[in-house]
Amino acid sequence: MLVNFHCHSTLSSDASSTMPEMARAARDAGIEVLCMTDHCDLLPYDGRKFERFSWEKSEAAYAEACAAVPGYDLRLGIELGSSFYDPAKAEKILSHQHVDFVIGSAHNFPGGPDYYYGTYESPAQCQQVLDEYLDQVLMLARSPYYDVLGHLDYPLRYMRLQGQDVSLSPQHPTVQAIFRAVIDSDRGIECNTSGYRGGGRSTFPSRDLLAAYRAAGGRRLTIGTDAHHTDQIVLGLKESYQMLRDIGFTELTIYRDRVPEQIKLEA
Ligand SMILES: [Zn+2]
Ligand SMILES: [Zn+2]
Repeated sequence: MLVNFHCHSTLSSDASSTMPEMARAARDAGIEVLCMTDHCDLLPYDGRKFERFSWEKSEAAYAEACAAVPGYDLRLGIELGSSFYDPAKAEKILSHQHVDFVIGSAHNFPGGPDYYYGTYESPAQCQQVLDEYLDQVLMLARSPYYDVLGHLDYPLRYMRLQGQDVSLSPQHPTVQAIFRAVIDSDRGIECNTSGYRGGGRSTFPSRDLLAAYRAAGGRRLTIGTDAHHTDQIVLGLKESYQMLRDIGFTELTIYRDRVPEQIKLEA
């Protein structure tokens, strides 16, 4: 069963298809369950990606999408960024009565802009950025404000675009501490297939980190394309199912009302 648990609509300022368009595209691509996860970033300052989030708008778009694709298994989640900066606000947002799924993400330099805006000049500088990034993710991993951690090695997306050939070692002590926090609280990470954009063939996190997560005992794993447009709705999904099977995963996790359910990892 093909599922996609990371997807944006025009409720996110960086996306260009509406929720009904995304739902229709997902159904037509053979995706059986789609979970919408529009952005809500809580970074208090310098956050060029800061967006106002309204469940009211989200619910309205969701109702429209359900009406556009009757009978389709569409779920409503959220990608909550930098929740650890404002726990009270995070709590308030997640107290909404209808939340199927929460991706916890760290998109920003500590107290600064999105890693998208960074300048990456050398492997040593990248490593320092990654160390600081992981400290944030560890804070997030120990917080209550997520079901799975989004794109665990996120800054690599932009470091690679600037020609820096860096990676995150699965043996990094902070990576191992993050896995521990996630696994001990029966939560998970995601396999984000957005590295397939522009002809690439990578996932976030990378294959070796996903394998290390499994080796550490990680079983809760969602998959999503992080699509911001209908033409990305299924990008890299089937290839990543195969890659996860090759690593040894036999199940994926899907969520409803924030309750996990394991499904067979079969396309
Ligand atoms: Zn994200
Ligand atoms: Zn996203």
